[in-house]
Amino acid sequence: MHPLRLPATELTVAGQRTIEVPIRGMDCADCVVHVERAIAALPGVALVHVSLTAEKAVVQLDPHRVDLSAIAKAVEGAGYSCAPPEVGRGGTTPLGGFTRPVLTLLGVVFGAVLFVVVVGEWFGLFEAVTRRVPWPLGLTVVLAGGYPVFRNVIRAAIRKQVTAHTLMTVGALAALVVGQWATAAVVVFFMRVGDYAERFTTERARRAVKDLTAMAPQTARVERDGAEREVPVGEVRVGETVVVRPGEKIPVDGEAIAGHATVDQATITGESMPVEAGPGTRVFAATIARLGGLRLRTTHVGKDTTFGRVIRMVEDAEAHRANVQRIADKFSAYYLPLVVSIATLTLLIRRDSLATAAVLVVACSCSFALATPIAMLASIGAGARRGLLIKGGRYLEALARADVVLIDKTGTLTLGRPQITDVLPLNGASGEDVLVLAASAERYSEHPLAEAVRAAARERGLPLYEPEQFEAIPGIGVRARVDGITVTVGSRRMVPDGSPPRVVADLEAQGKTLLFVARDGAITGVLAASDTLRPEVPAALAAIRALGIRQIELLTGDNERTAAAMAQRLDVVYRAGLLPEDKIGVVQQYQAQGRTVVMIGDGVNDAPALAQADVGIAMGAAGSDVAVEAAHIALLRDDWALIPEVWQIARRTMRVVKLNIGFTAAYNLTGLTLAALGILPLVFAAAAQSLPDLGILGNSARLLRPMRARTAG
Ligand code: ADP
Ligand code: MG
Repeated sequence: MHPLRLPATELTVAGQRTIEVPIRGMDCADCVVHVERAIAALPGVALVHVSLTAEKAVVQLDPHRVDLSAIAKAVEGAGYSCAPPEVGRGGTTPLGGFTRPVLTLLGVVFGAVLFVVVVGEWFGLFEAVTRRVPWPLGLTVVLAGGYPVFRNVIRAAIRKQVTAHTLMTVGALAALVVGQWATAAVVVFFMRVGDYAERFTTERARRAVKDLTAMAPQTARVERDGAEREVPVGEVRVGETVVVRPGEKIPVDGEAIAGHATVDQATITGESMPVEAGPGTRVFAATIARLGGLRLRTTHVGKDTTFGRVIRMVEDAEAHRANVQRIADKFSAYYLPLVVSIATLTLLIRRDSLATAAVLVVACSCSFALATPIAMLASIGAGARRGLLIKGGRYLEALARADVVLIDKTGTLTLGRPQITDVLPLNGASGEDVLVLAASAERYSEHPLAEAVRAAARERGLPLYEPEQFEAIPGIGVRARVDGITVTVGSRRMVPDGSPPRVVADLEAQGKTLLFVARDGAITGVLAASDTLRPEVPAALAAIRALGIRQIELLTGDNERTAAAMAQRLDVVYRAGLLPEDKIGVVQQYQAQGRTVVMIGDGVNDAPALAQADVGIAMGAAGSDVAVEAAHIALLRDDWALIPEVWQIARRTMRVVKLNIGFTAAYNLTGLTLAALGILPLVFAAAAQSLPDLGILGNSARLLRPMRARTAG
């Protein structure tokens, strides 16, 4: 009966399995709650999160107690389905093809005419048009027009749920009871209009994510047994050779092994300038090879590619709800009882059943629930197009009010491609000895400084040893056994006390990073590395200051003098000599003061601090697993200009959210008051309730438009 495919992802941890189930038929934020409740009620379900835009439920469950068919049953019981996305159209609705649009058109025309007639009667323009229509005919119109809504209301009632539509239905019934079938029909008509408005709004928000998903590559040309074969991307294995022809989409993440191409990476980085790719270059799935072809060695496939992870995180962004949304959701919970109370009072005090019906009808609006997520999704979708991966509304909210910025130095402020500028042998060693030992010890380190040391040795054509026992000490350096000698390379923390020569202080004052090389505990030389400041940093910092941020602080594991030189250049304060855990401590210290902290890092040695911050922003996240995972906002392009940009997006989003909420609240309260006082007649109440969703959509759509960061100076 249920055409269930295997869930998209499965992950089993300690007896608990996480599965993803596609959910169809959710049109409004209330639906999410219904589905979540239905699944959560199953024994064996530990955690469930339903996403309206990604149309899926992520369920953490005990596989021995609950299975997919039980979940499908629960979902269906709640009035939704677990079917995977329909391929093509039709088939699912009984009225497919031609009949449906014609019926819709007839309904719209009829509804509009009826509305005009009823309003006309109300103003006394013409009289008794509708009264001449026989009563049973009127009833049939109401029932036929409202069938889908009534069906849902009845289904909900059977499950003991009261929805906003329940109230409206009661309102329509009240109109019928007092013999105003035309008014009831108008109410039903606008109920359907409101429904469409809501579905349209949700669909618009969903599209930002869907458009992104649509860019995923479908097939790849792999080399197997000496021949090229076109296969679905899912079948490509890591390590296989993939051939990309000019103009084609690159199907996997990989390293170019032959050929040359200019690659348009806009899908991932948002940068329209193509980059050159040749042997050794890393390329990303969903980017396009223009002018030239490539042969690649596959490193990541499908969901593991940078693009796959971006999609996944954008889809999951809904889970990280902003606090304002929680407040709005809470308000929604009180809203229904509030409306019922007002309606009861109206009935008791004014004894006017039509005014009571107007209260019930005007109140209906999912808008409170939509006000926040629509705006957040618009911004997250727009961000993804610009090379900004925003993992949830919560982080936009925090960023909008953040007041402290902490910045990692190496790889974040600097390009992270340091070069060894000085080799200083000490205690009788030769420069070459020092380099050989250091480079051999650094052979397996992934730190940018390690690469600098290896490059320096390579340039001088020095032979390296294979280290035995290699150990990386985060934020300090490395220790390895090289040719029977214990070699350490790293910051001053690595070497025993004792005053280093004067020249060391001079090098540090030039802003250079010093690596102390020791053999068997005794210092044998010093290497100085200099890294280049990213050229766009000063302008970006100025723009951040222009946003009113006063507290900008440099955090580094580097030495005091180097840090001071950099800090002075950028006019920021600094803390030097920090271990990765010290950086977390600084974040926590500010948080304890009630401040909202932004941490900007590159994911190397600062991932925990990124995660601890209210908003962790990672540079150069394309291709870096740690940075993408740890950060809340990841820059898929190494460009500091994106930071003030996302900041402004955040502030603009919060302005839109507040306007959405304020507008909905004011609109609904005004409507309720006017209806209760008998000023707003039932027909107008019906028309009025279908509008706020569109207002919210229009207001939020502003966020989809791209925006350039304002850079001071
Ligand atoms: P930052 O905080 O500026 O990003 P890190 O925390 O990555 O810097 O490193 C701090 C310091 O530790 C470096 O300045 C360097 O002295 C030392 N260090 C870390 N890793 C290594 C390594 N692999 N080789 C040599 N020195 C290292
Ligand atoms: Mg760093």
